[in-house]
Amino acid sequence: MLQKFCDQKRYGYLRLDGQTPTNRRQELVTKFNNKFSKEFIFLLSSKAGGVGLNLIGASRLVLYDIDWNPANDLQAMARVWRDGQAKQVHIYRLLTTGSIEEKIYQRQITKQGLSGAVMESKAGKSDVQFSREDLKDLFSLNVNTLCDTHELLCCDCQDRPDSVGVPTATTAPSSVRPCQLGAGGIKKAAKRNLGMDELMEWKHLRGNSSKANPDWFLEGVSEDVSFIFWHETKT
Ligand SMILES: [Zn+2]
Repeated sequence: MLQKFCDQKRYGYLRLDGQTPTNRRQELVTKFNNKFSKEFIFLLSSKAGGVGLNLIGASRLVLYDIDWNPANDLQAMARVWRDGQAKQVHIYRLLTTGSIEEKIYQRQITKQGLSGAVMESKAGKSDVQFSREDLKDLFSLNVNTLCDTHELLCCDCQDRPDSVGVPTATTAPSSVRPCQLGAGGIKKAAKRNLGMDELMEWKHLRGNSSKANPDWFLEGVSEDVSFIFWHETKT
């Protein structure tokens, strides 16, 4: 799908996936990392793995179709963040709100935290257990939310001085929907997942407030992005 999109837009790209012969992989990476390369997009399957895939020619990574195993996603993100990377790196993780993707993400955070500092995931070994209730929850689509994860945090953005760009009641009454706890609120609150508390340190933005800071390169996405968790790390 993304390849078709690149074709349509006439963007130069390279592609590496499971079908790419091992002896061709390094060649693609070297070609991409060359600063004179005309291909400025690298379509990479996060499952293609392998060592030596250091994409330091990239400064923006868009991760979609996330994995049950957070270690796979972290490895994908680390590919642009290697020694030799001189540019500021931006990582975008795209999730479909209210869908199973967002629930996978919530489990990722709970299991490993956002920083991924605890890299103790045992390859190939799954200790995930689902109750009947969990499974039911996983496969139910919540269409009435801007961000299911934000609801689970029971966050009241209005009280947070650092949540820039969040509309206030005086300027945009219709878009103020702090912690949408309706009838199911009590139940959700009781289920609040403490493992996700790290997200409370991040900035919380409605998609429609992304215009507030053009530095995020998110201008123009407000129709497609309903909610943004945003974080900046200084190194
Ligand atoms: Zn919030």
